Amino acid sequence: MRELSVYYCPKCGYFAFYQLPQNAVCHQCSRDMTRLDISYQDFTALDYEERDRLISAKMVESAPSLVCRITAPEKLHCQRKLVGTLIQHILELEDEVNSLNKTIDWMHDTIWKQLKIRQALTAELQDLKAASQTEHLDS
Ligand SMILES: [Zn+2]
Repeated sequence: MRELSVYYCPKCGYFAFYQLPQNAVCHQCSRDMTRLDISYQDFTALDYEERDRLISAKMVESAPSLVCRITAPEKLHCQRKLVGTLIQHILELEDEVNSLNKTIDWMHDTIWKQLKIRQALTAELQDLKAASQTEHLDS
């Protein structure tokens, strides 16, 4: 029987054990999981916190945009700096979401206005058609 390997999802941190790499797909993100370079036995010997730390470190490593903001020695030793960078990143993303929401509201309002104008024009057109038909009948 083939040995189990440890795989983790670089996006959400979910981990599981598989014999075949093709089975290692994250249930939550449906993306391919990455194999950890640790044996199944060594991994299961770790406690929850150690597993957490190992996978967190791998996730940070596989996020190139974060890694290039933090230099290598700092990355290893300064978790506070990493947390700071992540918080900053989250705040930036929140700002972005806010401005996108504003754009959507604006588009929504504009579309409603356009729809109302269209309805008014359609009604007007129908009135005109009706009026011209009556004119036809009169003449
Ligand atoms: Zn995932």
